[in-house]
Amino acid sequence: MTASGIAQQAVDIFTARERQRFLEQNPKSVALAERAHQSLYAGVPMHWMADWSTPCPLFVERAQGARFYDVDGHDYVDFCLGDTGSMFGHSPAPIARALAEQGARGLTTMLPGEDAVVCGELLAARFGLPYWQVTATATDSNRYVLRWARAVTKRKTLLVFDGCYHGTVDDVMVRYRDGETVHRSGLVGQAYDLTQHSRSIPFNDVEALEAALAQGDVCALLCEPAMTNIGMVLPDPGFMQKCRELTRKYGSLLIIDETHTISTNIGGCTQLWNLDPDFFVVGKPIAGGVPCGIFGCSAEMAERMAASRKSAQEDSHGHGHSGMGTTLSANALAMHCMRANLEQVMTQAAYDHMLPLAKRLADGFRTLITKHDLKWSVTELGARSEFQFCPVSPRTGAEAEAAFHDELQMALHLYLINRGILITPFHNMTLCCPDTTAADVDRLIETLDAGITELLAIPG
Ligand code: PMP
Repeated sequence: MTASGIAQQAVDIFTARERQRFLEQNPKSVALAERAHQSLYAGVPMHWMADWSTPCPLFVERAQGARFYDVDGHDYVDFCLGDTGSMFGHSPAPIARALAEQGARGLTTMLPGEDAVVCGELLAARFGLPYWQVTATATDSNRYVLRWARAVTKRKTLLVFDGCYHGTVDDVMVRYRDGETVHRSGLVGQAYDLTQHSRSIPFNDVEALEAALAQGDVCALLCEPAMTNIGMVLPDPGFMQKCRELTRKYGSLLIIDETHTISTNIGGCTQLWNLDPDFFVVGKPIAGGVPCGIFGCSAEMAERMAASRKSAQEDSHGHGHSGMGTTLSANALAMHCMRANLEQVMTQAAYDHMLPLAKRLADGFRTLITKHDLKWSVTELGARSEFQFCPVSPRTGAEAEAAFHDELQMALHLYLINRGILITPFHNMTLCCPDTTAADVDRLIETLDAGITELLAIPG
């Protein structure tokens, strides 16, 4: 039997039907997909875009608020929201205005403007950490923070949780298997052994955490306050506080990556749970969907970073390179959009709208599970919720992964897409934005209900 309790044969029949329907409904996407194969590797501008549940990529014409429109004229309620890049809706009016304003005033000079100072002040006031840096992506933020952490602690080992994702940062591409750290499967072109300087342990395991830190070689624990990339996994009560307490006890730093969990609260889980990290990372929605990442650090870190930099500069006689930064980082366009986002879009009012809708959605999933007598569960945190194919919410990445039934997940996602609803690919996560309505939420639940009813009617 499958993890989900749904027979594979039924899923296969259901999937074949939905693939056929997609191809019939989307002639323009199909034609563009065929054309794209002649110039784009894998037929898409970024290879992940070929990994959705659809038989060929769904080509988007435009997006606005909680909706997007495909090239064949269908409209969709979007609960994926660019996997958080558009967490505050597609093209919010203040961001569209900021783009137009800055568009005529220069996009990148490799010099700061007043917007940069205002953003620094806004970030410090909002997130409580005094000093900030701006990057092009959350991946970059994590890479640079890791470099700083190694520099200031003079330790090499990075500690992460099994099943984590923090962007395409080499050092986090490890898993925990039978008590050992191993390479994550599927890595392409991996030249060196990542397990040399990275260690992976199960989430919610205080004993493993202490044992890993007690070795005395850990520069930092890099973690999300709740896992959101292997399915959602919430921390046990007090677990994140233990992460803070034990990293401090063993001289390791705590890096909190709130790139996804920023959907929980205007100051992230960091503020909500009083996590007091040494470094804090956000990317994706921080500039309203314009590529941008940030990281903040404590005053103590800033001091230690300055000392490390000074000694690195002395060693290199002023001709070295920090190994951090990209040319377009903190460009004028990103800074102007981040300012508009922080001032006008990423507001308490936005969260006040999103959070109850996500609750309504999670309740709807639970009702469906009960109605169809499925052994599934729902995990919710802030504006996110997810149904998982296991009877109780997972406590570790391995448990979340054991609940995967990829073919079923893809089949249900495709069923929803064929009826104008998009949820986050690769697992079953949903996100509500300030433009999502209660009717949108109800439509997702009703459509999923119809899909599950059809699926269960197929003899297994
Ligand atoms: N951190 C977390 C927690 C993420 O979920 C992601 C992306 N899913 C990243 C970092 C990387 O973001 P990006 O791909 O925008 O660099």
